[in-house]
Amino acid sequence: MAFEGLAERLQGTISKIKGKGKVTEQDVKEMMREVRFALIEADVNLKVVKSFIKRVSERAIGQDVMKSLTPGQQVIKIVKDELTELMGGEQSPIKFSQKPPTVILMVGLQGAGKTTTTGKLANVLRKKYNRKPLLVAADIYRPAAIKQLQTLGDQLSLPVFALGTEVSPVDIVRQALEHAKEEHHDVVLIDTAGRLHIDENLMQELKDIRALREPDEVFLVVDSMTGQDAVNVANSFNEAVGITGVVLTKLDGDTRGGAALSIRSVTEKPIKFVGMGEKMDALEPFHPERMASRILGMGDMMSLIEKAQANVDEEKAREMEEKFRTQSFTFDDFLDQMSQVKKMGPLDEILKMLPGANKIKGLENAKIDDKQIGHIEAIILSMTPAEKTNPEIINSSRKKRIAKGSGCSVQEINRLLKQFEDMKKMMKQMTGMTQKGKKKMKLP
Ligand code: GDP
Repeated sequence: MAFEGLAERLQGTISKIKGKGKVTEQDVKEMMREVRFALIEADVNLKVVKSFIKRVSERAIGQDVMKSLTPGQQVIKIVKDELTELMGGEQSPIKFSQKPPTVILMVGLQGAGKTTTTGKLANVLRKKYNRKPLLVAADIYRPAAIKQLQTLGDQLSLPVFALGTEVSPVDIVRQALEHAKEEHHDVVLIDTAGRLHIDENLMQELKDIRALREPDEVFLVVDSMTGQDAVNVANSFNEAVGITGVVLTKLDGDTRGGAALSIRSVTEKPIKFVGMGEKMDALEPFHPERMASRILGMGDMMSLIEKAQANVDEEKAREMEEKFRTQSFTFDDFLDQMSQVKKMGPLDEILKMLPGANKIKGLENAKIDDKQIGHIEAIILSMTPAEKTNPEIINSSRKKRIAKGSGCSVQEINRLLKQFEDMKKMMKQMTGMTQKGKKKMKLP
């Protein structure tokens, strides 16, 4: 997981100071030494580390903290606030043009994830902002890039403007802008050429494209796995063409976090989005405060709730609630629920968003693998409709049949039946409680 080492070290440091009734200057100094190590180890830019430590120390040694009733907690709050600030403070939204189309230039080095991110961003623009994006294939040097964008366009059912590799990128963009007007596209996303290294020709080409029509956003796509190097790349692009924001990709991998923590402070450009996987829905707005909270082990309930809202069908949720209440929950519903939860992503990633999740022992091994889920699905699908509604009628010979049909063992079937029974019992208790609660509080 991203930030793992940093999170572990910072949380270890924090736990030492957390409950302290009295925090001395020496305590703060010691803590800062550990925080400093943790940041350096996470490949955070040295200048950034220094100024961060300085700011936190100044605030933490301040009178207010020392005199407060919960100085340990206060220091932690300061660390969190400063981490949030370091990553940009507020979430930075996309800037749309008053006069459509909004033009977004996607720039970056080869392999950073530029083409993939262009597709993901178009998907976000359509889904979340109700826009009608046009993708423009302006990377003519890597022939596969055009094909790649076209494939993504097909996958998303979004149009891709391409003129092959013989027309210059500037001409492609010029014609694409005309085309966008004719076809009433309100956002134009331009996938520009990436290079292995920053070079003069590339920068000139980007400047020429810029000169055609001032883009509303110039997003630099950088690979978070490259650590501090990402900061150098960002600086070079910023100086040469001027960027308005950064998209950090591959934050689903085990990046140490250096890029995410340094880039804003060095370039003064916000991280607008983060790439969390290869799939087209794996692009998320970057929330500095939530990220700080996750790094410090305080969980990220907001993201969890949003994920649930985006993936779980409200109508279904209401239906499910009704079934819980009337205890008419069947194995078919169980399957349905499983597929809803699956849509939210890997279960261990979801659990990590809960506050204190880092303290749950064995969570790192809690990879609920697809195979296990596959088995459960196979078992349920091998039951008859009557059995799905009334599993108590499943006798031992039927269990053997189901085992055969699903390719699972009888033990697995017994385990699932037990889980289902337990779940029903729990629901009964819970609904009992809420009903009582309602009565007590005189709610309707
Ligand atoms: P480009 O050369 O910058 O256009 O890079 P591509 O878009 O071709 O991406 C390079 C590789 O990185 C591809 O295999 C992508 O699937 C992968 N990739 C891009 N973004 C992410 C991400 O957020 N997470 C992961 N795990 N892989 C990504």
